Order: sequence, then structure tokens, then C-alpha cells
Amino acid sequence: MSSTFKNITGTFDILPDTQTTAQDAVPGSPAWQYVEDRIRAVMRRYGAQEIRTPILEQTELVARGVGQYTDIVSKEMFAFERGEDGYVMRPEVTAPIMRAYLQHNLEQRGGVQRLYYIGPCFRAERPQKGRYRQFHQFGLELIGTEDARADAESILLPIDVCTELGVTGTTLRINSLGRPADRKRYRDALVEFLEPHAGELSETSRERLESNPLRILDTKEESERRLLEDAPDLWTFVDEESRAHFAEVRRHLDAADVEYTVDSRLVRGLDYYSRTTFELDVAGLGAQNTLAGGGRYDGLAEELGSKRPVPAVGFAAGIERLLLALAVQDAALPGIAPADIFVVALGDAARDWCFERVSAWRRAGMNAIYDLKGRSMKAQMREANRQNADTVVIVGDNELERGSVVVKDMDSGDQQDVEFAELESTLRERVRAT
Ligand code: AMP
Repeated sequence: MSSTFKNITGTFDILPDTQTTAQDAVPGSPAWQYVEDRIRAVMRRYGAQEIRTPILEQTELVARGVGQYTDIVSKEMFAFERGEDGYVMRPEVTAPIMRAYLQHNLEQRGGVQRLYYIGPCFRAERPQKGRYRQFHQFGLELIGTEDARADAESILLPIDVCTELGVTGTTLRINSLGRPADRKRYRDALVEFLEPHAGELSETSRERLESNPLRILDTKEESERRLLEDAPDLWTFVDEESRAHFAEVRRHLDAADVEYTVDSRLVRGLDYYSRTTFELDVAGLGAQNTLAGGGRYDGLAEELGSKRPVPAVGFAAGIERLLLALAVQDAALPGIAPADIFVVALGDAARDWCFERVSAWRRAGMNAIYDLKGRSMKAQMREANRQNADTVVIVGDNELERGSVVVKDMDSGDQQDVEFAELESTLRERVRAT
């Protein structure tokens, strides 16, 4: 039955059962639902409210928001044109959320907006383990405050999600980039330092020296790391106020018993960050081991056309990487939920009876299924087993005449005869008991 069409490389079908591909195991939809439920539960504890923005945005929004010279905008956008308009499939959700915040005047709701999201993002990257072209992010944006506790909250939340799911071995790195003006001065100093060494840099870093020099600090190349040891220190460019803010963030993290290291090389790949940045890594994921990243982006609103500054901070995390971490750590993830009731019906009259009853039970809130192929008793029992049914109801011509059916407990194998009038309440009791 195989077709000639396949899903695009770097994207996945999420099937009811876990599937193993050449590259990864893709957990089944029950595991995704479970993880998303736990994320929502943690979001609720933080008083965060869900926001859903479109997959499609104006290309200009992402170019301006994320930054023209970032990898995302210069190389990784799935963007296209229709007539005069440029569209992009969102590569991240922070710029769209800030757009929505400004467009709908969400500050009028009062107080700080704690907005969360779960959904797909798209980046035209070279697919590899933990790096895909369609992936799923969840995240939180706290919009409308400079309070350092908001920075701490957006760091604590992904850690709490890990704890909630039992993911261990996470490490947190934090940094402060200072204000945009400090960053600009630092950028110039870094370029001045690196330019005489341009010949020693990799091709990517040479390109970045022109476009986005701070990203060179992210390099994984050993020789470049050694070279960078003598580079000017970003920290010496950070202004007093940003330093004081960073000290506050650290104080709050300490109060919440969170361990971290300060990493002055942590600049992150997106242009909109100022002051706090952070990344949460998880052991065992190989090269793509960053589970969550985020920081403060006080300048984004104005970049998107706001007349007033709107201070904000947030994080984004990858659900695929969370699921990979759970797999590496051998966590038990739920599979397909068993059926409460499976009706084995033999003969046309019994099949009609079955459909009528099952429809009524479903409306009464129970979960009941039956065979849609008109197969033999044996085949229907096999199906009931495959569906992990707790209770099987067996009905044929004899039972219809008698006015009672056989109810079988699939765990113990016990059977009992139950009259039609008692059937719904008996089944309801059994469903409640399991
Ligand atoms: P970023 O928006 O690049 O800071 O990414 C935030 C988080 O999203 C990362 O830490 C990853 O967990 C996840 N992520 C980003 N890009 C990808 C990708 N191409 N494939 C899978 N997950 C990703």
C-alpha cells in the first residue's frame, strides 16, 4: 500500500504508535499529548495564558524582529512571495507574539502579560539529530516589565518542565549582553581583535566577521576557541545598570535554588536580545544539546514600530529535544490508551444493536468501540486484545432473544451474564473501577 509520496526530509509524521526512522525514534501521538499536557500544567502554575499566532507571517516582521544578519533570516527562512506580499513560515514565535501584543494593545489587559505558546516552527536547516526543518517549540513571554524576577521566571519555567517530566542532567548558562549600545561597542572591539586573525578563522566565522561577529563566540572549533581566549571580554563593556540588573537576576535564581554558570560567551543567535541571555542544556543529546534558550528583548517592540519601549523577557524550548532527552533517559512514556469497552457482535441484528448501544454509551461519556469489518468471533476477540480493552461485551442472536449479554473482564477472564436493563450501569461501574 506504499505510495510514491513521502514526507519532506527534516519533517515528521507523528503516528499513533512510536515509529523508528533511520535517524530517530519519533514518539507516538500519546507521548506528545502527555508532554504537552505537562507543559500546560506548568504554564498554569505560572499564571501564563495561551496565545496562538498564525504559522504565516510577513517576511518583513521576521527580518526586522529576528535580525537581517542572523542565520535564521539570512539562510533558514521558508519564505515565498504572492503578488506584492512576502510570507514566511514562522521560524520562531517571539516576534509574532510581540506583533500580536502591539496590534491588539494587550497592555490594556493590565499588568504584565505572561503569554505562552506550543506549536510548530520552520527553519531550512540541514537536518540532523535534534535539528529539523519543522520542529515544535513551547515558550513563555513576559511582556511589560523590567523586573529581574521576570527574567528569573523565564529561566525557572523550562527547568520546572524538566523536573515535571523527570528529565535530569540539565545545566544552565546565563549571561548579560548589556544595552544595544554596549553591544555595538563590543562588536567593534571584537572585529578589531579578530580582523588580523581572519586567515585563521573557518569559512563560517569569516562570513560572520562581516555579518554577525558576536556569533563567532559560539564557535565549537578548538583553534578558534583558543584564539578567543585573548579576545576582549564582553563583560567589561556592560554598563552599570545592566550589571545591577544581572546581579538581581542571579540573586533571584539563588533564592530559587537554581544552579548556573555565568558564560560571557553566551550571545545567542537572534538579534533582539539585550541584557539577560540564557541557555539550558541537557546531557546525552549529542551536538544539539540545547533544550531551551531565551533572554530579555527590551528593544524588539520599537524595532517592530512601537512608539514606546516595551520591556520583555522570555524563552523558547524544543519539544523534539525534550522527547529525545526522555528517550535517552529511558523514561516511560504513555502509549495508546486502552479501550474501556469492546463489543463483539455476531450477526446483522446484533451489529445493529451494538451500534445503537455504543452510540448511546459514547454520548453518556463512556469510551466504547467495536469491529467495523463484520469479522468472526475469533477475529473480533483478537481485535479486542489488540486494543487492550478492559471489558468485552459479547452479543449474538441468542443474547438478543434472551435479553442479556455476556460481559467479560479481560484481566481476570471472569464472565457474567448481564440483563439489558442492567447493562449500562454495570459498564459504568466497571469503567469507574479501572
Ligand atoms: P532558538 O529559537 O534558536 O533559540 O531555539 C530555541 C529552542 O528550540 C532550541 O533550544 C531547541 O530546543 C529548539 N530548536 C531550535 N531550532 C530547532 C530545530 N531546527 N530543530 C529542532 N529543535 C530546534
